[in-house]
Amino acid sequence: MRAAFLDGAEEIAVREVPPSRVEGHLVEIDVIACGICGSDLHGWRHPDLMIGRGRASIPGIAGHEVVAWAPGADDGRGRRVVVEPNLAGNCGKCAACLDGKALFCSNRAPLRSWGFSERMSVNAWSLFDVPDGMADELASLTEPLACAVHAYRASHIFAAQDGTLAGRKIAVIGAGAIGLLATAAAARLGADALLCVARYPRQAAAAETLGAIDVLDPVVDDVVSGIRGFAPDVVVEAVGGGPETFDLAVRTVNPGGEVLVLGLFNDPTRLDTRRAAFRELRLFFSMTYGVIDGRHDFEVALEFLESDPDAFSGLVSHRFPLEETAEAFVAAADKSTGALRIVVTP
Ligand SMILES: [Zn+2]
Ligand SMILES: [Zn+2]
Repeated sequence: MRAAFLDGAEEIAVREVPPSRVEGHLVEIDVIACGICGSDLHGWRHPDLMIGRGRASIPGIAGHEVVAWAPGADDGRGRRVVVEPNLAGNCGKCAACLDGKALFCSNRAPLRSWGFSERMSVNAWSLFDVPDGMADELASLTEPLACAVHAYRASHIFAAQDGTLAGRKIAVIGAGAIGLLATAAAARLGADALLCVARYPRQAAAAETLGAIDVLDPVVDDVVSGIRGFAPDVVVEAVGGGPETFDLAVRTVNPGGEVLVLGLFNDPTRLDTRRAAFRELRLFFSMTYGVIDGRHDFEVALEFLESDPDAFSGLVSHRFPLEETAEAFVAAADKSTGALRIVVTP
């Protein structure tokens, strides 16, 4: 089978690899589409930061926003599924797995391949059925939307309000795919008012379609006073990279509020702990998804996509064949092209 390998910084090549063995509780799935995530771009630019995490070691195959065909029931028809990556190779038996936090599985089996390839072997329990009629591109948003859903569902404010953001004001810094999906998730989890900071006109329009009531443009607006004036109970940092947006979130959230961090940073980042202490801030660094109150974040994400497909459908802007994975990464990295989400299709 063919698979795309990350050979070094910003270097991707597609090669033939032997098919992986399928045994035990693994099932082999045929990839239909795989989205390019901000974390994939991060690994592509800085492979040195990702080594040892299994996914993007060099050379390696990345891609975790997977829609695929899985073996179906006896009638021979396959199941169209999305893969919950934390469950794809977890043990299912350790304390973390039993607690719904497979991200922290202590006995994870490394996968032979990920989504930028023709086929994968994954745990049967990692598969979630895609509702009939849902477009493949839309289904590929399940994983990043589940990341956003998880950040809120795992937050203090959500638990303190018995599982809702009702009555709360949320500000989202960043309107790349994850910022837009964080905007969408907040609206659907009951937020009262929603502000999004978006750099490009296409992002601003998407933020409004997904539920933002106000949008700030960081080029023309004073974002510090703009966000402070909005008085958010929660500020979501959805940019990463350099430290500026983390600092902005901490400086602008209301006293007693909560900062949810979805971005990944290139370097250790300073925090003004004195300012944070005087304002009794809470910080939550959210990474992926799991099970909360007996429900997978993946299930919640699929439900949101299914109930309002039109709002989300414009988010996937480009498709590239597997052979052009390198070009797809270059396009995904260049936000000025208007690329929101890009999928690779074997
Ligand atoms: Zn992702
Ligand atoms: Zn485990």
